[in-house]
Amino acid sequence: MPLRGVITFRAVTREGGVFWLSDEPMLLPELRKAVLEANLELVRKGLVLYTFGNASGISRQKSLVVIKPSGVPYERLRPADLVVTDLNGKIVEGKLRPSSDLPTHLVLYKSFPTVDGISHTHSEYATAWAQARRSIPCLGTTHADYFHGPVPVTKEMTDAEIASKYEENTGHAIVRAFEGVDPSAIPAVLVANHGAFAWGADPATSAHNAVILESVARMAYLTLSINQEARAIGRFLHDQHYLRKHGKAAYYGQPKEKK
Ligand SMILES: [Zn+2]
Repeated sequence: MPLRGVITFRAVTREGGVFWLSDEPMLLPELRKAVLEANLELVRKGLVLYTFGNASGISRQKSLVVIKPSGVPYERLRPADLVVTDLNGKIVEGKLRPSSDLPTHLVLYKSFPTVDGISHTHSEYATAWAQARRSIPCLGTTHADYFHGPVPVTKEMTDAEIASKYEENTGHAIVRAFEGVDPSAIPAVLVANHGAFAWGADPATSAHNAVILESVARMAYLTLSINQEARAIGRFLHDQHYLRKHGKAAYYGQPKEKK
């Protein structure tokens, strides 16, 4: 579809960074770039086919969400194509229809205040677990580094939930799967018979977590095919790995620069 008057130029700086110029003022230009990058990362890492999948981000300050438009090929996506909506899904800026999964993203943003970026994919191994309607047990330290417990799977949705407000009800099914669970500590979910949602403090982190989820799902599948008796790692090893990367006592990587 043509850009209908919005001309966007892609330019590369001498340092190799990319910036975008448009002939129209746009809301949330930085968030648009971040959401576009997250969507492209899902493609680069082989998590989406064709136009499947979508990533979004939220400006909590402005209560506005930026999301991929529905059905536009990734290679043609430009920041100006992304759609800005309010938390009720009303389009605030954008000429294209937003992703049909927008209502799921909105429920998650409203229910999980620490989540500022969301990625949805049908990546193969994560989706295989979702289709098997099995949560992914923590079988090793790669999983423990990112997820402080098993990755949950939602309950099957009822026909009534599917018949009306299906995408919104998908969001509610996810929220129910996190009753008593901190979504910051387990930044992904399997939606029964459907696929995966991953999230984080920004769109890039949500895409990163979607990639890790797929890797963890693949390793868990392989582990259980080698040994069906493989069991979740002990709480102590799990905590050791998760807590050295997250939380107050984290010591993994380099110290953050003080601003
Ligand atoms: Zn989907």
